[in-house]
Amino acid sequence: TSKDHPLWQLIRTVPDFPKPGIDFYDITPLLRSHVDELIDALLDALPEGLMDEVDCLGAVEARGFVFASLLAGRLGKGMILLRKPGKLPPPVANKSYALEYGKDTLEMQNNLPPERVLLVDDILATGGTLNTAHTLCHSAEHTVVGVLVLLDLIDLHEPLPVPVYSVLQA
Ligand code: IMP
Repeated sequence: TSKDHPLWQLIRTVPDFPKPGIDFYDITPLLRSHVDELIDALLDALPEGLMDEVDCLGAVEARGFVFASLLAGRLGKGMILLRKPGKLPPPVANKSYALEYGKDTLEMQNNLPPERVLLVDDILATGGTLNTAHTLCHSAEHTVVGVLVLLDLIDLHEPLPVPVYSVLQA
C-alpha cells in the first residue's frame, strides 16, 4: 500500500483544520526539504510514455502551481494556469464549484490554441477542483489526458472523466 511510501513520513495530518471533522494533510514539509524526491515520485506515478503525448501542464492555483512549475522545469514543458477569479486578464472563462469546505471558482484564459494537457494539483479530495479544471479545459477545446496529484483521497470523490495518477492514496 502507499502507506509504506517514504513521502508519507513528510506529510503531517492536522485534525479539525480548517473545520471540525476535517483531516487536513499538510504537504509543506515535503516542499521544504524533499523537492527532488517529490518530482521523481510524481513522474514515477505516470504511465511510461504519457508525457510524450502531453503538450503542457495545467497548473491549478496554488500548490498545483508549485508542483507543475517543478515538473515543467524538469520536463521542459510549458504550463497553462487555472486561477482564482479576477487574476487573469480577459478573455477568460470561469466556473464555480463546491469544495470539501466552502465554495470556489476557477478561471482560465480561453483564447489559447488547443493543446493536450495534464492537470496537476497537490491533493484530490471531493474532485470539485479538478473536475472544474477539466470542464474549463474541455470548453476551451483542450484535450485533458489525465490528472496528476501527490495524494488522492479516494473515498471522497466519484471517478473522474479522465485517468487519475497519484503517488499516495488514502
Ligand atoms: P477538492 O476540490 O475537494 O478535490 O479539493 C482539492 C483542493 O483543495 C486542492 O486544490 C487542494 O489543494 C485542497 N485540499 C483539499 N484537501 C486538502 C488537504 O487535506 N490539505 C491540503 N489541501 C487540501
